[in-house]
Formats: sequence, structure tokens, C-alpha cells
Amino acid sequence: MPTKLQQKLFHEMEQKDIFRQVQQYAFDYLDNVPGRNVYPTSAAIADLDKFVGEMPESTGNAAEVLEQLNEYGAPASVATTGGRYFGFVNGGVLPASLAARCLADFWDQNTALYVMSPIAAKLEEVCESWLRELLGLPGKVVAGFVSGTSLAIFCGLAAARYRIFKSADWDINKMGFYGAPKIRVVAGRQAHGTVIKAITLLGFGVDNIEWIATDEQGRMIPSEIPELDENTILILQAGNVSSGAFDAFDEICAKANTANAWVHIDGAFGLWAAASGRLKHLTKGMEKANSFSVDGHKTLNTPYDGGIVLCNDKEALTCALHASGSYIAYGDDRDGMLYTPEMSRRARAIELWAALKYLGKEGVDELVYGLHQRAVQIAQELKGEGFQILNDIVFNQVLVACESDEITNRTMQFIQKSGECWVGGASWNGKAVIRISVCSWATTEKDVTRSVKAFVAARNKAI
Ligand SMILES: *Cc1c(COP(=O)(O)O)cnc(C)c1O
Repeated sequence: MPTKLQQKLFHEMEQKDIFRQVQQYAFDYLDNVPGRNVYPTSAAIADLDKFVGEMPESTGNAAEVLEQLNEYGAPASVATTGGRYFGFVNGGVLPASLAARCLADFWDQNTALYVMSPIAAKLEEVCESWLRELLGLPGKVVAGFVSGTSLAIFCGLAAARYRIFKSADWDINKMGFYGAPKIRVVAGRQAHGTVIKAITLLGFGVDNIEWIATDEQGRMIPSEIPELDENTILILQAGNVSSGAFDAFDEICAKANTANAWVHIDGAFGLWAAASGRLKHLTKGMEKANSFSVDGHKTLNTPYDGGIVLCNDKEALTCALHASGSYIAYGDDRDGMLYTPEMSRRARAIELWAALKYLGKEGVDELVYGLHQRAVQIAQELKGEGFQILNDIVFNQVLVACESDEITNRTMQFIQKSGECWVGGASWNGKAVIRISVCSWATTEKDVTRSVKAFVAARNKAI
């Protein structure tokens, strides 16, 4: 006899009512998103208190659980999938990729080993090969599918650490850091916070970073790079998180290659420029690097969470992330956990595959270049309205300022309150700025113009 709980669960699975219910909620959400306030209203945020309370003593009703989630959850979500969210660097979601994820969620596959999920392993392999081709990377480059760029950077730098120590006859896995030779870490002043996090996690220590000065766009100044050697990890950037600027890969990588230094390129959103014929001049020479980190969930608009580490040294990557146990049988087929820190992991390659398969090379180009075009448009229209644009619009990022820091900050707050669009702030070369990141396929020319109106209205209130 099935237990009482089992009977309930079998019932849900057989009836499928909750799945139909959720489908309807999801469809209503999709229909609602284009027109709704981008940021939740204060009433919606206050209603989140409805979730606060004691954990139930006994098993409840699934339909009611989902009803509560939809009623109070959906209005308090941020409309990042719509066309007028420009905060941080987020990214919308492609329908085919989202749908593939929904289907794959029913499969609930674990990607640790081939034997756990041949389909997940196969699609990881296919994505790896397509990404190499799309981004113009050498045939020996392998990919690990992780939660995002934070972890992808960690993996790339772990591979670097393994390889550099190994070349000095030091097995870091066995011997650890005690008495180890020194590895130098060289990074630009504008390195992303997650680069610093990875450096910390890997035990290098922030105080040991050799910082390289950057220019007014946030690019590393090549002449400031010190003599490199085979004990050096050099971290470059494809897409500065504020300005969108790219380091001069061709020149810098050539120098690093000659010195036999390891180069990691953090290209969370910017690496995709390499997949657009009209933007790939920005990434010229990047194929000379050793490892790369990139997100699916930003520029490519796959659902959260999906990032990729790419590495031209399979042995270093897999040895750095190696795990073992008597029950783990690595086979000749692809065992995903060799390429990632996690063992159990959901099959992120499925929605990535769906995005790439659906878009094709032309679609990726159109998506990526389209983000750039909208960024150029928003910068032009804002300039026309008297706003200052502080960066060169090389990719999808736009930095905006008003006549004083105070007016800039107040304008930003009024924009956020308006619900018309959402933008965040930062400081750029000592000045307060409003950061715009165009990274959803859903942003249209009309969304841009409507958002510019919101900027003007907010500034009128702020001055
Ligand atoms: C977003 C971002 C990261 C971190 O990526 P996550 O996917 O959020 O982990 C790292 N570097 C840059 C340049 C980014 O834009």
C-alpha cells in the first residue's frame, strides 16, 4: 500500500491540475509583462509579508501553494523579461529556451555522469562544439556548464592554478599551498567583483594582485602591464560591466603567449561579441587566451542560471575540478562533473542548446547586434535631450550623467519610482552615473523612446 503522502503525490502527477494551473499563471504573466510596471509597486512588496509565518505542521494542498505563489509572487517580481529593464547586466529570456527548460524540468536530469543522463551529456557535447565554432575558439577548447560567470571565472582560474603549479612540479591537489612557489595574479583596476571573489576563494589573496591601470573607458593600458612570466595569471575583460569596453586582446595576449603566462578572459556578457560579424572586431585575438568565462543568462537570453567556462587545457580544468569516490565510474563518454566543481547539477546545457539551435548563427548575430543598436539609439536620444553620455557605446552599455551628481542620483531614483523602466547607478571616473544595460531581445525602438521620456520626466522632477 502506498503511504498517505504517496497517494497524494501520485494523485497530483496523474491529475496534472496543478501543472495546468501553473501554465495559466505563466501565460497570464507573459501577457502582462510588456505593459506592466517594471519594478514591483510598494503595495506588491508589502504583500510579501503574506509569505511570512510558521512552517505548516502537516501536508497541505498543492493548488493552494501555487495560488499563493502566483498571487503574491508574480506582482513582486521584477519585469526583467520585458523590454524596459536596463538594470545591472541581466538579460531577458528566449521563448524556445524557456520552453526547453520547462520540458527538461519534467525530466529532472542530473548531469554529473553520462550514465545518469545520456541526453544531458550529449547536449553538453554539442553545445561545447557549437560554442567553439561560434566564438572562434580552437578545437581543443572544452566547456563546463556552471551556474554563471562567477563560478566560470573560479573554474578558469583553478585550471590556471593547477597548470602553473604542475609545470613547477607542484601538485596543488596533493600538496596544497604550504611551501608552494608563488603564482602572480595580474588584473586590471576595473576587474569585476566576481574576479576578486574567485581570487579570494582560490587562496591567492587580494593584496597579492598586481593591479594594472585602466584608461577612461576602463580598458587595461597595455604599456602598464609588467614583465610577464610562466608563473603569471593575467585576467582580461571582454565587456566592462559599466562601460562595455574590451581590453586589447590581440596585443596583450601576444605578449602573454610569448612569456608563457596564463590568460583568462572574463566575458560574462561581452564574449558574445565574437559571435556577431559586425562586433567581433572587439574580441580580435581573444582565441589566444587559455580560459574564458561567459554567461548564457545575460546576452544570449537563456533562463537563469547558466554560465560556461571554456578552457584550452582539458587536463588542467578536469584535474583542478576532479572528484573521486568508489562508486564514481568515469566512462569514455562525457561525464559533466569533470568540468565543474559540482557533482549533482541540473542540465543547463538543454536550454542553452535550445537557444543556439533555435537562433542559429544568424539569429545570434541579430540578437547581439540588436542589443548594441538599441544601446546606440538610447545614447543618441538621451544626448538629444541634454544628458551627458560618458562612454563610447562599443557594445550594450551606456553611462549617463546629468549636470551634477546630486541631480543624477535624484533622476535615477525618480526613474526607478516611475515603474516606466529600471536603471541602476554607479560611479564612473569619480562621477555619479546612471547605468543602462540593453540586454533583452524584447527591447524595441519604442521601448527605448518611452524610456528616454521617463528619463526626461524624472530629471524635470529632480532639478
Ligand atoms: C555579470 C558579470 C559577472 C558575474 O556573472 P554571474 O553570472 O552573475 O555570476 C562577472 N563579470 C562580468 C563582467 C559580469 O558582467
